[in-house]
Amino acid sequence: MAKLSAQMSALIASKYWETIALADMDDAQWEAICDGCAKCCLHKFIDDEVDEAHYTDVAKGEEEMFFTDIACQYLHTKTCQCTEYQDRTELVPHCVKLTQENLPEIFYMPPSCSYRRLHEGKPLPSWHPLLNNGKAHKMHSAGMSVRNKTVNELAVDMNKFEDRIVTWPLNVEE
Ligand code: SF4
Ligand code: SF4
Repeated sequence: MAKLSAQMSALIASKYWETIALADMDDAQWEAICDGCAKCCLHKFIDDEVDEAHYTDVAKGEEEMFFTDIACQYLHTKTCQCTEYQDRTELVPHCVKLTQENLPEIFYMPPSCSYRRLHEGKPLPSWHPLLNNGKAHKMHSAGMSVRNKTVNELAVDMNKFEDRIVTWPLNVEE
């Protein structure tokens, strides 16, 4: 079993997410907030014609967000990690790299996204790796990641992506 790095152990022990605002976190603190669910690697779209059932109370205007179960071709569907992390924004122009600067765009993230939760004043969920010695197994077993739920974008007809709309990415487990 992989051992936690000294840096990650120190981060976990400090419980910094309870006292430091997202905007004030350093790079390591910021990166560790990502729970690794990979829901942000699913294809999604906004329908601004819809005038009811708002996806989120922080969404803009009349926009509604829909998630599909179609995953980016660079996602490792078992580990839920990006196989091209360093080059991801070049390879996939629509790949959203959440930063402190684009936090106002966070409504693009699912309600369970740990950045979004902190941004909305909520605590990290009990399954978060930072609360489980750096491990992701509780997140997977709680069904909060995309593991075993997706199809590869190369295996589907993207012109019919509306057929693949799913609601499970909107689920939240505390
Ligand atoms: S949805 Fe949020 S927490 Fe989950 S992988 Fe994406 S950025 Fe990280
Ligand atoms: S390039 Fe990587 S991080 Fe970006 S959407 Fe694809 S799998 Fe996710």
